[in-house]
Amino acid sequence: MTEIKTCTRCILTSQIPNISFNADGVCNFCTDYEKEKQYLDRDYVALEKKMISTLKVSKKHPYDCMVLYSGGKDSTYMLYRLANHYKLRVLAFTFDNHFIPPETYANIDRVLKKINVDHIVYKPSWNLTKTMFNASFENSGLKESSKELAFMIGHACWPCFTQIALHSIRLAAEKDIPNIVVGTTPGQLRQKKYDMNSKFDGLTDVYKNMIMPMINLLKALGKNDVIDSFNISLWKKLKIMRMNLVPFFEYNKYNEHEVYETIERELDWRKMKSTDSCSTNCQLNSLGIAIHQKKYNLHPYVIPLARDVREGLMTREEALTAVSGQVNGKLVDHIAESFGLDLNKM
Ligand SMILES: [Zn+2]
Repeated sequence: MTEIKTCTRCILTSQIPNISFNADGVCNFCTDYEKEKQYLDRDYVALEKKMISTLKVSKKHPYDCMVLYSGGKDSTYMLYRLANHYKLRVLAFTFDNHFIPPETYANIDRVLKKINVDHIVYKPSWNLTKTMFNASFENSGLKESSKELAFMIGHACWPCFTQIALHSIRLAAEKDIPNIVVGTTPGQLRQKKYDMNSKFDGLTDVYKNMIMPMINLLKALGKNDVIDSFNISLWKKLKIMRMNLVPFFEYNKYNEHEVYETIERELDWRKMKSTDSCSTNCQLNSLGIAIHQKKYNLHPYVIPLARDVREGLMTREEALTAVSGQVNGKLVDHIAESFGLDLNKM
């Protein structure tokens, strides 16, 4: 067995495709990044103005924007900024993947008492949810594109993000909301291709690089009934083509300490005990981590957190601590059982 090497600057390991290390043990993604340094030199005052001018729309629309609100720390902070600070007319959208713990709902309840927004929770049928998750858990290796996405985003996170995108886009089109705001961190956003330097390119990007590979995988598995349920009319497609997907943290500097400090002080948001160290809102994440470790002996958050380390959003030590946390074995077994999965056979 070859020894696993970890970059001395970020936290990427020798298990990542296309990685190489220089004499100082620094990986090629870090040295490439040094050449760019685009993120650190950003003019956030100008970016903030640009974001607001995109998001503020005429009153003929019922809301300025839909905000994807998971109840986790980042989206809670984003919701607070958009509604309370920028005074936008916001519809908060929460996707319930059937594994949102009661503690998250308790947080959502406390937070929404202090933020003036309407809120919609969307929980699709268990059949639809289970089919998409199982496709990723058991069959992502079937196609090159789904294999890459499951590796880069995670076996639980990829089908979950895909569903969030599908349902939120459809609902925004139905309600004539022209903007969707997402709270993914910069590392998460670019996490779709092995080369890792791919840029985020709006809704068409999400459709082509995240949703289509899932549809293709479901097709290969003969799950046509599930695909039919996504069918979007031409009228809605035209609306969607004009819709903006706005990544909040590309316009607002991400600072994890400020995020926690603000939401705990202003909104009575509380850290939870029932989720693993990387997710502040989802239990399914633990199963995703367990599958990744089983298949690749690698924590799925190494990839996005490496980017965040490089961009100075967290320290290397903080990231290493986050990815060394153990998942709760009992919880993982319990969740795997509901998908009919036997982790020992993976
Ligand atoms: Zn590195």
